[in-house]
Amino acid sequence: MTRLRAGAATDAGMVRAQNEDNLLMAEPLFAVADGMGGHAAGEVASETAIETLRVAFGRNPSLDGLVEAIQEANRRVWQLGQEDPARRGMGTTLTAAALVPDGDDETLAIANVGDSRVYLLRDGDLSQVTDDHSLVEELVRRGQLSAEEALVHPQKHVVTRVLGMGPDVEVDMFPVTPYRRDRVLLASDGLFNEVTDDEIAAVLRRGGDPEAVARELVERAKTAGGSDNITVVVVDVVDDDGRSEQASAALSAEPRTSSVPLRPSAPEGGAVERDDPSPRPVAAPAAAPARPTSAEPSHRRITARVVGFLLVFLLLLGGAVAAIAAYARGSYFVGVQGQQVVIFKGHPGGLLWFHPTVEQRTGLTTADMPESSVMDLNDGHVEPSVSAARRFVDHLAEEAAAARGATTTTTAPPPATTPTTAAPAP
Ligand code: MG
Repeated sequence: MTRLRAGAATDAGMVRAQNEDNLLMAEPLFAVADGMGGHAAGEVASETAIETLRVAFGRNPSLDGLVEAIQEANRRVWQLGQEDPARRGMGTTLTAAALVPDGDDETLAIANVGDSRVYLLRDGDLSQVTDDHSLVEELVRRGQLSAEEALVHPQKHVVTRVLGMGPDVEVDMFPVTPYRRDRVLLASDGLFNEVTDDEIAAVLRRGGDPEAVARELVERAKTAGGSDNITVVVVDVVDDDGRSEQASAALSAEPRTSSVPLRPSAPEGGAVERDDPSPRPVAAPAAAPARPTSAEPSHRRITARVVGFLLVFLLLLGGAVAAIAAYARGSYFVGVQGQQVVIFKGHPGGLLWFHPTVEQRTGLTTADMPESSVMDLNDGHVEPSVSAARRFVDHLAEEAAAARGATTTTTAPPPATTPTTAAPAP
Protein backbone atom coordinates (compact mmCIF):
# COMPACT_ATOMS: atom_id res chain seq x y z
CA MET A 1 0.00 0.00 0.00
CA THR A 2 1.14 3.49 -0.81
CA ARG A 3 0.91 5.63 2.29
CA LEU A 4 0.36 9.39 2.22
CA ARG A 5 0.59 12.13 4.81
CA ALA A 6 -1.00 15.51 4.11
CA GLY A 7 -1.46 18.96 5.59
CA ALA A 8 -3.22 22.11 4.43
CA ALA A 9 -3.65 25.81 5.12
CA THR A 10 -5.87 28.54 3.69
CA ASP A 11 -6.17 32.27 4.28
CA ALA A 12 -8.17 35.19 2.87
CA GLY A 13 -4.89 37.08 2.39
CA MET A 14 -4.13 40.73 3.14
CA VAL A 15 -6.58 42.45 0.77
CA ARG A 16 -9.74 40.39 0.25
CA ALA A 17 -12.44 40.44 2.92
CA GLN A 18 -13.66 36.92 2.11
CA ASN A 19 -11.96 33.65 1.35
CA GLU A 20 -13.57 32.21 -1.78
CA ASP A 21 -11.05 29.35 -1.97
CA ASN A 22 -11.99 25.92 -0.65
CA LEU A 23 -9.99 22.77 -0.08
CA LEU A 24 -10.56 19.07 0.47
CA MET A 25 -8.56 16.74 2.69
CA ALA A 26 -10.26 13.34 2.35
CA GLU A 27 -7.46 10.83 1.90
CA PRO A 28 -6.90 9.44 -0.68
CA LEU A 29 -8.50 12.50 -2.35
CA PHE A 30 -7.17 16.06 -2.04
CA ALA A 31 -8.34 19.17 -3.87
CA VAL A 32 -8.15 22.95 -4.12
CA ALA A 33 -10.88 25.17 -5.63
CA ASP A 34 -10.63 28.92 -6.27
CA GLY A 35 -14.10 30.42 -6.70
CA MET A 36 -15.07 33.54 -8.64
CA GLY A 37 -18.26 35.59 -8.95
CA GLY A 38 -19.88 38.53 -7.15
CA HIS A 39 -22.00 38.56 -3.97
CA ALA A 40 -20.09 35.69 -2.39
CA ALA A 41 -21.05 33.47 -5.33
CA GLY A 42 -17.39 32.49 -5.71
CA GLU A 43 -17.44 30.87 -2.30
CA VAL A 44 -20.64 28.99 -3.18
CA ALA A 45 -19.08 27.80 -6.41
CA SER A 46 -15.86 26.49 -4.84
CA GLU A 47 -17.71 24.91 -1.91
CA THR A 48 -20.24 23.22 -4.22
CA ALA A 49 -17.47 21.89 -6.44
CA ILE A 50 -15.49 20.46 -3.51
CA GLU A 51 -18.53 18.82 -1.92
CA THR A 52 -19.79 17.33 -5.20
CA LEU A 53 -16.29 16.05 -5.98
CA ARG A 54 -16.01 14.37 -2.56
CA VAL A 55 -19.35 12.54 -2.85
CA ALA A 56 -19.02 11.57 -6.52
CA PHE A 57 -15.44 10.31 -6.18
CA GLY A 58 -16.53 8.26 -3.16
CA ARG A 59 -18.94 6.35 -5.42
CA ASN A 60 -16.16 5.48 -7.90
CA PRO A 61 -12.68 6.02 -6.45
CA SER A 62 -10.73 5.47 -9.65
CA LEU A 63 -8.94 7.49 -12.30
CA ASP A 64 -12.00 7.59 -14.56
CA GLY A 65 -14.14 8.20 -11.48
CA LEU A 66 -12.10 11.31 -10.65
CA VAL A 67 -12.64 12.77 -14.14
CA GLU A 68 -16.36 12.00 -13.94
CA ALA A 69 -16.61 13.47 -10.43
CA ILE A 70 -15.12 16.76 -11.67
CA GLN A 71 -17.54 16.79 -14.60
CA GLU A 72 -20.39 16.22 -12.15
CA ALA A 73 -19.09 19.06 -9.98
CA ASN A 74 -19.07 21.27 -13.08
CA ARG A 75 -22.70 20.45 -13.88
CA ARG A 76 -23.76 21.17 -10.29
CA VAL A 77 -22.05 24.58 -10.21
CA TRP A 78 -23.47 25.46 -13.63
CA GLN A 79 -27.01 24.42 -12.57
CA LEU A 80 -26.83 26.57 -9.40
CA GLY A 81 -25.78 29.52 -11.52
CA GLN A 82 -28.68 28.95 -13.89
CA GLU A 83 -31.22 28.72 -11.05
CA ASP A 84 -30.27 31.95 -9.26
CA PRO A 85 -29.69 35.22 -11.17
CA ALA A 86 -27.46 36.47 -8.34
CA ARG A 87 -25.17 33.52 -8.94
CA ARG A 88 -25.24 33.53 -12.73
CA GLY A 89 -21.72 33.42 -14.12
CA MET A 90 -20.14 32.10 -10.94
CA GLY A 91 -17.36 29.62 -11.47
CA THR A 92 -14.45 27.89 -9.82
CA THR A 93 -11.14 26.28 -10.60
CA LEU A 94 -10.73 22.72 -9.40
CA THR A 95 -7.47 20.86 -9.11
CA ALA A 96 -7.38 17.44 -7.47
CA ALA A 97 -4.96 14.63 -6.64
CA ALA A 98 -6.19 11.16 -5.75
CA LEU A 99 -4.42 7.89 -5.09
CA VAL A 100 -6.34 5.33 -7.18
CA PRO A 101 -5.97 1.65 -8.09
CA ASP A 102 -4.03 0.95 -11.28
CA GLY A 103 -4.24 -2.77 -12.00
CA ASP A 104 -2.29 -4.43 -9.18
CA ASP A 105 -0.57 -1.15 -8.44
CA GLU A 106 -1.62 2.38 -7.57
CA THR A 107 -1.25 5.68 -9.35
CA LEU A 108 -1.62 9.29 -8.31
CA ALA A 109 -4.32 10.76 -10.56
CA ILE A 110 -3.89 14.52 -10.92
CA ALA A 111 -6.77 16.36 -12.54
CA ASN A 112 -7.18 20.04 -13.37
CA VAL A 113 -9.61 22.64 -14.66
CA GLY A 114 -8.59 26.30 -14.35
CA ASP A 115 -5.46 28.09 -13.16
CA SER A 116 -4.83 26.52 -9.78
CA ARG A 117 -1.79 24.26 -9.92
CA VAL A 118 -0.28 20.96 -8.87
CA TYR A 119 3.48 20.82 -8.42
CA LEU A 120 5.66 17.75 -7.80
CA LEU A 121 8.87 17.85 -5.80
CA ARG A 122 10.94 14.75 -6.66
CA ASP A 123 14.64 14.34 -5.81
CA GLY A 124 14.73 18.02 -4.92
CA ASP A 125 13.47 19.15 -8.33
CA LEU A 126 10.19 21.04 -8.50
CA SER A 127 8.06 20.67 -11.63
CA GLN A 128 4.59 21.95 -12.44
CA VAL A 129 2.39 18.97 -13.31
CA THR A 130 -0.70 20.83 -14.50
CA ASP A 131 -1.16 23.38 -17.29
CA ASP A 132 -2.86 26.66 -16.40
CA HIS A 133 -6.07 27.34 -18.29
CA SER A 134 -5.43 31.05 -18.43
CA LEU A 135 -5.14 33.51 -21.28
CA VAL A 136 -1.49 34.36 -20.65
CA GLU A 137 -0.42 30.73 -20.25
CA GLU A 138 -2.07 29.83 -23.54
CA LEU A 139 -0.24 32.73 -25.20
CA VAL A 140 3.00 31.44 -23.63
CA ARG A 141 2.30 27.91 -24.90
CA ARG A 142 1.75 29.33 -28.41
CA GLY A 143 5.01 31.24 -28.17
CA GLN A 144 3.28 34.63 -28.35
CA LEU A 145 4.33 35.70 -24.86
CA SER A 146 7.43 35.00 -22.76
CA ALA A 147 7.19 33.54 -19.25
CA GLU A 148 8.56 36.84 -17.91
CA GLU A 149 5.93 38.89 -19.76
CA ALA A 150 3.21 36.54 -18.48
CA LEU A 151 4.13 37.33 -14.87
CA VAL A 152 3.26 41.03 -15.25
CA HIS A 153 0.58 40.79 -17.95
CA PRO A 154 -2.53 42.91 -17.08
CA GLN A 155 -4.80 40.00 -18.07
CA LYS A 156 -2.97 37.34 -16.13
CA HIS A 157 -6.09 36.62 -14.06
CA VAL A 158 -8.25 35.86 -17.10
CA VAL A 159 -9.05 32.13 -17.07
CA THR A 160 -10.03 30.28 -20.22
CA ARG A 161 -11.53 27.19 -18.60
CA VAL A 162 -13.29 26.86 -15.22
CA LEU A 163 -16.16 24.89 -13.70
CA GLY A 164 -19.63 26.43 -14.06
CA MET A 165 -19.40 27.99 -17.53
CA GLY A 166 -21.52 25.35 -19.25
CA PRO A 167 -22.99 21.87 -18.80
CA ASP A 168 -19.79 20.15 -19.98
CA VAL A 169 -16.15 20.72 -19.25
CA GLU A 170 -12.88 19.27 -20.47
CA VAL A 171 -10.73 17.84 -17.64
CA ASP A 172 -6.94 17.49 -17.92
CA MET A 173 -5.63 14.28 -16.37
CA PHE A 174 -2.01 13.56 -15.44
CA PRO A 175 -1.36 10.11 -13.96
CA VAL A 176 1.84 10.13 -11.87
CA THR A 177 3.50 7.04 -10.39
CA PRO A 178 4.03 7.88 -6.72
CA TYR A 179 7.46 7.22 -5.23
CA ARG A 180 8.50 7.44 -1.62
CA ARG A 181 9.68 10.95 -0.65
CA ASP A 182 7.66 12.59 -3.46
CA ARG A 183 6.01 15.79 -2.23
CA VAL A 184 2.91 17.00 -4.08
CA LEU A 185 1.67 20.58 -3.74
CA LEU A 186 -1.81 21.77 -4.70
CA ALA A 187 -2.21 25.55 -4.62
CA SER A 188 -4.46 28.39 -5.68
CA ASP A 189 -2.92 31.31 -7.60
CA GLY A 190 -2.78 33.37 -4.40
CA LEU A 191 0.36 31.37 -3.59
CA PHE A 192 2.35 31.27 -6.81
CA ASN A 193 1.45 34.80 -7.94
CA GLU A 194 3.14 36.05 -4.76
CA VAL A 195 5.91 33.50 -4.12
CA THR A 196 8.40 32.42 -6.81
CA ASP A 197 8.78 28.78 -7.81
CA ASP A 198 12.35 28.86 -6.44
CA GLU A 199 11.13 30.00 -3.04
CA ILE A 200 8.31 27.43 -3.06
CA ALA A 201 10.85 24.72 -3.93
CA ALA A 202 13.18 25.83 -1.13
CA VAL A 203 10.40 25.59 1.47
CA LEU A 204 9.24 22.18 0.18
CA ARG A 205 12.79 20.81 0.11
CA ARG A 206 13.31 21.45 3.81
CA GLY A 207 10.93 18.57 4.56
CA GLY A 208 9.06 18.54 7.83
CA ASP A 209 5.42 18.18 8.71
CA PRO A 210 3.18 18.86 5.66
CA GLU A 211 0.81 21.06 7.66
CA ALA A 212 3.65 23.24 8.97
CA VAL A 213 4.99 23.53 5.40
CA ALA A 214 1.54 24.52 4.10
CA ARG A 215 1.23 27.18 6.82
CA GLU A 216 4.68 28.56 6.04
CA LEU A 217 3.85 28.87 2.32
CA VAL A 218 0.64 30.74 3.16
CA GLU A 219 2.57 33.08 5.49
CA ARG A 220 5.14 33.78 2.79
CA ALA A 221 2.39 34.68 0.29
CA LYS A 222 0.87 37.07 2.86
CA THR A 223 4.25 38.65 3.58
CA ALA A 224 4.77 39.12 -0.17
CA GLY A 225 1.51 41.09 -0.42
CA GLY A 226 -1.29 38.56 -0.04
CA SER A 227 -3.40 40.28 -2.70
CA ASP A 228 -5.58 37.17 -3.23
CA ASN A 229 -6.94 34.25 -1.22
CA ILE A 230 -4.22 31.66 -0.60
CA THR A 231 -4.80 27.91 -0.34
CA VAL A 232 -2.14 25.22 -0.07
CA VAL A 233 -2.35 21.42 0.29
CA VAL A 234 0.88 19.44 0.75
CA VAL A 235 0.78 15.65 0.23
CA ASP A 236 3.83 13.51 1.07
CA VAL A 237 4.33 9.95 -0.20
CA VAL A 238 5.73 8.33 2.94
CA ASP A 239 5.71 4.71 1.72
CA ASP A 240 5.44 3.32 -1.82
CA ASP A 241 5.32 -0.41 -0.98
CA GLY A 242 8.79 -1.02 -2.45
CA ARG A 243 7.92 0.57 -5.81
CA SER A 244 11.13 2.62 -5.87
CA GLU A 245 13.28 -0.48 -5.35
CA GLN A 246 11.37 -2.54 -7.93
CA ALA A 247 11.53 0.24 -10.50
CA SER A 248 15.23 0.67 -9.84
CA ALA A 249 15.87 -3.06 -10.31
CA ALA A 250 13.72 -3.20 -13.46
CA LEU A 251 15.50 -0.20 -14.92
CA SER A 252 18.92 -1.70 -14.36
CA ALA A 253 17.73 -4.79 -16.29
CA GLU A 254 15.98 -2.98 -19.15
CA PRO A 255 14.07 0.25 -19.81
CA ARG A 256 10.48 0.10 -18.62
CA THR A 257 8.16 0.42 -21.56
CA SER A 258 4.96 0.05 -19.60
CA SER A 259 5.56 2.93 -17.21
CA VAL A 260 2.92 5.58 -16.84
CA PRO A 261 4.19 8.87 -18.24
CA LEU A 262 3.92 11.97 -16.12
CA ARG A 263 2.18 13.79 -18.98
CA PRO A 264 -0.37 12.13 -21.26
CA SER A 265 0.07 12.42 -25.01
CA ALA A 266 -3.55 13.09 -25.85
CA PRO A 267 -4.19 16.05 -28.18
CA GLU A 268 -4.90 19.49 -26.73
CA GLY A 269 -2.31 19.17 -23.98
CA GLY A 270 -3.55 15.92 -22.54
CA ALA A 271 -7.19 16.88 -22.23
CA VAL A 272 -9.68 14.13 -21.66
CA GLU A 273 -13.02 14.41 -23.38
CA ARG A 274 -16.23 13.77 -21.52
CA ASP A 275 -17.95 10.56 -22.67
CA ASP A 276 -14.67 9.27 -24.02
CA PRO A 277 -15.04 5.51 -23.55
CA SER A 278 -11.34 5.20 -22.66
CA PRO A 279 -10.48 8.54 -21.12
CA ARG A 280 -7.08 7.54 -19.85
CA PRO A 281 -4.43 8.43 -22.40
CA VAL A 282 -1.53 6.00 -22.41
CA ALA A 283 1.47 7.30 -24.27
CA ALA A 284 3.69 5.26 -26.49
CA PRO A 285 7.24 5.59 -25.11
CA ALA A 286 8.39 7.56 -28.15
CA ALA A 287 5.56 10.04 -27.70
CA ALA A 288 6.10 10.54 -23.96
CA PRO A 289 6.32 14.32 -23.72
CA ALA A 290 8.17 16.79 -21.56
CA ARG A 291 9.64 16.39 -18.09
CA PRO A 292 10.79 12.79 -18.52
CA THR A 293 13.04 13.08 -15.48
CA SER A 294 10.08 13.56 -13.20
CA ALA A 295 8.71 10.19 -14.27
CA GLU A 296 11.93 8.34 -13.52
CA PRO A 297 12.27 6.42 -10.28
CA SER A 298 14.32 8.30 -7.73
CA HIS A 299 16.83 5.50 -7.21
CA ARG A 300 18.03 5.53 -10.77
CA ARG A 301 18.53 9.27 -10.70
CA ILE A 302 20.40 9.16 -7.39
CA THR A 303 22.67 6.38 -8.66
CA ALA A 304 23.37 8.25 -11.88
CA ARG A 305 24.12 11.39 -9.90
CA VAL A 306 26.54 9.60 -7.54
CA VAL A 307 28.33 7.85 -10.43
CA GLY A 308 28.54 11.14 -12.33
CA PHE A 309 29.96 12.91 -9.30
CA LEU A 310 32.58 10.19 -8.75
CA LEU A 311 33.62 10.30 -12.42
CA VAL A 312 34.07 14.05 -12.35
CA PHE A 313 35.99 13.80 -9.06
CA LEU A 314 38.32 11.09 -10.45
CA LEU A 315 38.88 13.07 -13.67
CA LEU A 316 39.79 16.17 -11.67
CA LEU A 317 42.08 14.17 -9.37
CA GLY A 318 43.77 12.48 -12.36
CA GLY A 319 44.20 15.83 -14.08
CA ALA A 320 45.79 17.34 -10.98
CA VAL A 321 48.25 14.42 -10.57
CA ALA A 322 49.16 14.60 -14.28
CA ALA A 323 49.74 18.36 -14.04
CA ILE A 324 51.98 17.98 -10.96
CA ALA A 325 53.88 15.13 -12.65
CA ALA A 326 54.37 17.17 -15.83
CA TYR A 327 55.64 20.09 -13.80
CA ALA A 328 57.85 17.96 -11.52
CA ARG A 329 59.39 15.96 -14.39
CA GLY A 330 59.25 18.62 -17.08
CA SER A 331 62.59 20.31 -16.44
CA TYR A 332 66.28 19.51 -15.96
CA PHE A 333 68.94 20.82 -13.68
CA VAL A 334 72.68 20.59 -13.38
CA GLY A 335 73.78 19.57 -9.89
CA VAL A 336 76.45 17.77 -7.95
CA GLN A 337 76.53 14.12 -6.85
CA GLY A 338 79.61 13.31 -4.77
CA GLN A 339 82.09 15.44 -6.64
CA GLN A 340 80.62 14.69 -10.04
CA VAL A 341 78.71 17.30 -12.06
CA VAL A 342 75.51 15.58 -13.18
CA ILE A 343 72.47 16.52 -15.31
CA PHE A 344 69.27 15.56 -13.44
CA LYS A 345 65.75 15.23 -14.75
CA GLY A 346 63.20 16.86 -12.40
CA HIS A 347 63.25 19.68 -9.86
CA PRO A 348 66.05 20.27 -7.33
CA GLY A 349 64.92 18.61 -4.08
CA GLY A 350 62.03 16.87 -5.85
CA LEU A 351 58.28 17.65 -5.70
CA LEU A 352 55.86 15.50 -3.66
CA TRP A 353 56.71 11.88 -4.58
CA PHE A 354 58.48 12.82 -7.84
CA HIS A 355 62.23 12.61 -7.16
CA PRO A 356 64.91 13.78 -9.61
CA THR A 357 66.68 11.07 -11.66
CA VAL A 358 70.15 11.11 -13.19
CA GLU A 359 69.92 11.99 -16.88
CA GLN A 360 73.63 12.19 -17.69
CA ARG A 361 76.98 12.11 -15.88
CA THR A 362 79.18 14.78 -17.46
CA GLY A 363 82.70 13.66 -16.47
CA LEU A 364 83.27 17.11 -15.02
CA THR A 365 84.18 17.30 -11.31
CA THR A 366 83.88 20.17 -8.87
CA ALA A 367 87.64 20.07 -8.37
CA ASP A 368 87.99 21.37 -11.96
CA MET A 369 85.74 24.36 -11.39
CA PRO A 370 85.87 27.82 -9.85
CA GLU A 371 84.30 27.98 -6.37
CA SER A 372 81.54 30.45 -7.46
CA SER A 373 80.24 27.94 -10.05
CA VAL A 374 80.28 25.11 -7.51
CA MET A 375 78.08 27.20 -5.13
CA ASP A 376 75.54 27.64 -7.95
CA LEU A 377 75.53 23.90 -8.71
CA ASN A 378 74.97 22.93 -5.07
CA ASP A 379 71.48 24.47 -5.28
CA GLY A 380 70.87 22.94 -8.71
CA HIS A 381 71.04 25.05 -11.88
CA VAL A 382 67.65 24.64 -13.63
CA GLU A 383 67.35 24.49 -17.42
CA PRO A 384 64.18 23.92 -19.49
CA SER A 385 65.60 21.07 -21.61
CA VAL A 386 68.36 18.49 -21.56
CA SER A 387 70.13 20.18 -24.49
CA ALA A 388 70.09 23.51 -22.63
CA ALA A 389 71.56 21.71 -19.60
CA ARG A 390 74.31 20.24 -21.82
CA ARG A 391 75.13 23.68 -23.24
CA PHE A 392 75.41 24.95 -19.66
CA VAL A 393 77.80 22.07 -18.82
CA ASP A 394 79.88 22.91 -21.93
CA HIS A 395 80.04 26.46 -20.67
CA LEU A 396 81.21 25.21 -17.23
CA ALA A 397 83.85 23.03 -18.91
CA GLU A 398 85.16 25.99 -20.91
CA GLU A 399 85.36 28.05 -17.73
CA ALA A 400 87.25 25.23 -16.00
CA ALA A 401 89.59 24.82 -18.96
CA ALA A 402 90.21 28.55 -19.12
CA ALA A 403 91.02 28.47 -15.40
CA ARG A 404 93.57 25.72 -16.13
CA GLY A 405 94.83 27.55 -19.23
CA ALA A 406 93.61 24.83 -21.58
CA THR A 407 90.99 25.01 -24.41
CA THR A 408 89.49 21.52 -24.64
CA THR A 409 85.99 20.75 -23.44
CA THR A 410 85.46 17.88 -21.10
CA THR A 411 81.84 17.08 -21.72
CA ALA A 412 81.44 13.37 -22.30
CA PRO A 413 79.23 12.30 -25.20
CA PRO A 414 75.71 11.59 -23.96
CA PRO A 415 75.77 8.00 -22.73
CA ALA A 416 72.71 5.74 -22.94
CA THR A 417 71.73 6.16 -19.34
CA THR A 418 69.21 4.21 -17.41
CA PRO A 419 67.54 6.79 -15.16
CA THR A 420 67.94 5.87 -11.54
CA THR A 421 66.27 7.58 -8.66
CA ALA A 422 68.83 9.65 -6.88
CA ALA A 423 68.74 12.84 -4.94
CA PRO A 424 71.45 15.40 -5.58
CA ALA A 425 73.98 15.79 -2.82
CA PRO A 426 73.23 18.85 -0.71
MG1 MG B 1 -7.29 33.20 -6.72
